[in-house]
Amino acid sequence: MSRGIEFNNRLGDIPDYPTAGNYEFGGELVKLASNESPFGPPAAVVGAIQGQLETLNRYPDPEKSALRKAIADRAGIGPERVTVGNGSCEILLSAADALLEPGAELIYAWPAFSVYPMLAAASGATEIKVPLDADARHDLDAMATEITAATRLILICNPNNPTGTALPLDEIAAFLDVVPDHVAVILDEAYVEFNLLQDPDDSLDLLAKHGNLILLRTFSKIYGLCGLRAGYALGPDRFRRAIDQVRQPFSVNALAQAAAAEAVRHQDEIARRIEATVIERVHMESELDDRGLDYAESQANFTWVSVGDRDEAAIVAGLADRGVIVRAGTALGEEGRLRVTFGTRRENDRFLAELDALL
Ligand SMILES: *Cc1c(COP(=O)(O)O)cnc(C)c1O
Repeated sequence: MSRGIEFNNRLGDIPDYPTAGNYEFGGELVKLASNESPFGPPAAVVGAIQGQLETLNRYPDPEKSALRKAIADRAGIGPERVTVGNGSCEILLSAADALLEPGAELIYAWPAFSVYPMLAAASGATEIKVPLDADARHDLDAMATEITAATRLILICNPNNPTGTALPLDEIAAFLDVVPDHVAVILDEAYVEFNLLQDPDDSLDLLAKHGNLILLRTFSKIYGLCGLRAGYALGPDRFRRAIDQVRQPFSVNALAQAAAAEAVRHQDEIARRIEATVIERVHMESELDDRGLDYAESQANFTWVSVGDRDEAAIVAGLADRGVIVRAGTALGEEGRLRVTFGTRRENDRFLAELDALL
């Protein structure tokens, strides 16, 4: 009798990533579950993708030279310090491969990004999850006390997913001052553009000071290219080479490389999107205030709303029945919460109207 294929032991520890469900709905489906941009790519970016179609018989550039140069020029650092990934998640998972192993320790806050628990599980390292503080922000003092001789990697998500909360950069700078320089710190800035506490360029100053710091950014959120998969890290050259050692050479496809390189050139459009999102954030928060619903202080393109003692799962299911998809807090690390992405005004008002009908 066959027992079926035998897999390795680590596999049982790797949690499934909690993806948003697929829903059938007769009318217009409002997707506010995955922190996506409601805006499609600019026409020039679509053009750059189309420009690649005829040459798809060729492998993509394994060095990702044009894209790394475009990112490096904007960041004012050398291209050898830019790592490009098939989404920033590839860089996270490859960092686990390159930095972690049984006996090594990883520290991160919780709740934070749902991919982080995969890093320790996939590498066999030990993870230390440090609870957020009472304001749903990273507790950096508590995280610092968890550093040991075995610590290899610390993840900080700023602004944090799923809470939307952000720390002022000077608090992160003070934390970096106490982290031993053999410990890598990945500052996940997937939502940095939406953060009004700082300019995205401000974090770059920390790179010059800390050789163990890696800034992680993505084309998936403000750039609206999550369907293509492109993300990047700014950090030491040695980090880039380590990531390249543990992954396949052609991980970032030709369409993604061309689109992202073009997208970098459209900062005026990015600025308009930031403004539109912040306007929706203010609108949604004032509507939530009117309904007496509490939410964490968001510096991102989503809100982390408390449903109080109402049944979170019933609200998520009820909204889905009405064509509005949001995320249940339980799947993301905390009960009694909804994570709701800010869409267009029309989409946000649909969410509010269906919520009112439900409650
Ligand atoms: C969405 C998100 C990312 C982006 O992942 P990609 O693989 O680049 O799409 C990274 N970190 C956090 C915290 C996120 O929420």
